Amino acid sequence: MPHRVFHKSNPASDITKLPKLGMEKKHFISDFKHYYSHRLGRDENCRSPHYAYEALSLTISDRLVERWKKTYNVYRDSDCKKAFYLSMEFLIGRSLSNAMLNLGVDDVVTQALYDLGLEAEELVESEPDAGLGNGGLGRLAACFIDSCATLQLPVTGYGLRYEYGMFTQQIVNGEQVERPDHWLRMGNVWEIERPEYMHRIKFGGRTQSHIDEHGNRRTSWIETHDILAMPYDTPVPGYKNGTVNTLRLWKAIATEEFNLQEFNAGDYAEAVAQKVTAENITMVLYPNDANENGKALRLQQQYLLASASLQDVIANWVGRHGNNFSKFSEKNCFQLNDTHPSIAVAELMRLLMDIHGLSWRDAWNITRNTMAYTNHTLLPEALEKWSVNLMQSLLPRLLEIIYEINAHFLAEVSARWPGDGERMARMSIIEEGPTKMVRMAYLAIVGSFSVNGVAELHSKLLKEGLFRDFYELWPGKFNNKTNGVTPRRWLAGCNPELAEFITETIGDAWITDLSQLAELKPYADDAAFRKKWYELNRASKQRLVDFKKFEYDIDINVDALFDVQVKRIHEYKRQVLNVLHVIHLYDRIKRGDTDNWVPRCVLIGGKAAPGYAMAKKIIKFINNVSHVINNDPDVGDKLKLVFLPNYCVSAMEKICPGADLSEQISTAGKEASGTGNMKFMMNGALTIGTLDGANIEIREEVGEENFFLFGLTEAEVEALRGHYDPEAYIRDDNDLQRVMYLLECGHFNRFEPGMFDDIIASIKSPNDPWMTLADFRSYLEAQKRVDAAYRDQEHWTRMSIINTAASGKFSTDRTISEYNHDIWHLTPIQVEG
Ligand SMILES: *Cc1c(COP(=O)(O)O)cnc(C)c1O
Repeated sequence: MPHRVFHKSNPASDITKLPKLGMEKKHFISDFKHYYSHRLGRDENCRSPHYAYEALSLTISDRLVERWKKTYNVYRDSDCKKAFYLSMEFLIGRSLSNAMLNLGVDDVVTQALYDLGLEAEELVESEPDAGLGNGGLGRLAACFIDSCATLQLPVTGYGLRYEYGMFTQQIVNGEQVERPDHWLRMGNVWEIERPEYMHRIKFGGRTQSHIDEHGNRRTSWIETHDILAMPYDTPVPGYKNGTVNTLRLWKAIATEEFNLQEFNAGDYAEAVAQKVTAENITMVLYPNDANENGKALRLQQQYLLASASLQDVIANWVGRHGNNFSKFSEKNCFQLNDTHPSIAVAELMRLLMDIHGLSWRDAWNITRNTMAYTNHTLLPEALEKWSVNLMQSLLPRLLEIIYEINAHFLAEVSARWPGDGERMARMSIIEEGPTKMVRMAYLAIVGSFSVNGVAELHSKLLKEGLFRDFYELWPGKFNNKTNGVTPRRWLAGCNPELAEFITETIGDAWITDLSQLAELKPYADDAAFRKKWYELNRASKQRLVDFKKFEYDIDINVDALFDVQVKRIHEYKRQVLNVLHVIHLYDRIKRGDTDNWVPRCVLIGGKAAPGYAMAKKIIKFINNVSHVINNDPDVGDKLKLVFLPNYCVSAMEKICPGADLSEQISTAGKEASGTGNMKFMMNGALTIGTLDGANIEIREEVGEENFFLFGLTEAEVEALRGHYDPEAYIRDDNDLQRVMYLLECGHFNRFEPGMFDDIIASIKSPNDPWMTLADFRSYLEAQKRVDAAYRDQEHWTRMSIINTAASGKFSTDRTISEYNHDIWHLTPIQVEG
């Protein structure tokens, strides 16, 4: 509905015509003062750095918005194909320093602040993390949108604007305590609310079918309880290229008329209570990583994301093409980040048929040519299933459509494998049984033209295992896209001194073409280069030490080997194996076996899902072992174990530059890719790891002599299953016996009897899926090779340089280029110059 608020003699375009904002120091100073004094109303007596942070962010945000509008207009005028990245999580972290880096103004702004008597660092540090994600999957989405903007691809991110992000972790008496993360409390200068693009979302009610004027059967979804989805847009700047893409996050709000009915009936309190119910939907991020818990509110969140985003794209389409959808799939592509948004398959069908009048056939052709699905895990507990009953009551029309999709699909299966009832039952989107379930991953596969895993091994295992039947049916759908991380945040931004040194050496083109880091390789043989590299690494370690000292009063010896494992706490990631090694080192110190000792500081950090009892117990275990070791005078500086509380994006930006050794020790076949491994490698850490996920590709790139490999392969793990005998490993290994003795005699829980019984029982169980003890000896031997390598500092530094030099493959610029080449087929659009 075209409407205009301006009379004809004063065209709307005039009010947005402004002179280009200045990019010199004086412009930043005057804009900063304007915001600080007039918009925020603060003066020189204000003590909080928060308002200086806000004034600077508003100054920077203006420059983004200017380029944002231009990008929007250029995309619109070019009528280009677009892709939409649908994700329940965007783990953004902080925005200010990244915006300054990508605009290319970090130096001039630092100067401007200096003139104003302010420290850029302090302002940057007062920004809260936007923690709208759990871990790797959410952080990947954030890295992806950075790369899309840098590659000038017209891609919009769609997600949810949770009022409360990932909880803040505190450690009390060694245990995790969760505190709500009200990240919006002080406002959010990076977002713009856009009520003009609100959409209505239906829940509940029932369906009714009738015959329309053309004799076609039509279905309406009636008597629903509706809510509204309010969009909040955040600019996503590319690296120094004038492109600013959009991340659009939906907030659930109550519909006005729904409240009004109650209000007219005199039930004011009820009306307000309803409002609260509606707004609960986007109140909180579910804090489960790689684990579904099947709550109704979660399904509502997923449907809100899918429906609002698809309505948004379709409204745009209809605004330009009317009800002609013949070219829709040529111009639009939806990438589903894991199964979470897969209800989008059924929702697109609903919108095309029920709202826009398309036939089943046309709607299905469009859906199957626009949806693409990325799988992120093989863990069965992460595979989403919704009970048919829940879906019936919450989304009855969607359930109908899913049943119909399934009927068409099973007909296809039956045509391919006539009479194979078992296969039909295996592949059906509906799982039969006492409680019928909808298998959301299958819905995603059936409704998509592309299905990808996130590392070579993971994609192979999807084809051979989890999705084998589907691979047999549609081999051409399956492909691999090995994950990456953005080198802007994860090298240029988080390690500016090292980045500067790299740029001095090989120029700055590596920032947008990371393969150029390979040019560093010959410098590994240059003693002067190695010396500087070593000094920079030491400075990063010192910064990490100072930072932790400041935050938590933890004392660490900067000359120790920094051995780091930070990631979500999960049994498959095997933090316990790491601690068993630490206990072994402690035991060696206690028995005086310390010839040629390499001092180590083992840093472990990560959050446990609040409902995952074993993961929380592992945190307590790490902290108890830490307490005993760190307070033993015999140990001293030889060994420290430190738990880093509240692991998050901004913490990782300080941790990864200061690491010597990166622990990537999951049971082979369980970590789909990993991305923490890539951040560490880029910053020059060496990896100790299993042949799992992207570790395999990291080792391929860096060479086996620069990687500390240990453990069973995925095939060996599977072959061992069924006759795994942990007692035998204990019997045959004196070191392991001693470690188990310390554990079982309660050495680390003297006043807390039985505290670690669950952990002990799980690693001693023949059914331990993670086979921790099977890899113990091999892990110890690899750690000895680590010590030997570290004793020769020149050798270690050489390997460190080679790791950074070989990390080029792990840029999300490479990953996104592959998504675009194989799946999206977008044309890069130049916005500037
Ligand atoms: C990179 C990152 C992750 C993913 O780490 P993995 O080691 O791949 O599991 C999780 N959380 C945060 C905050 C990260 O930055």
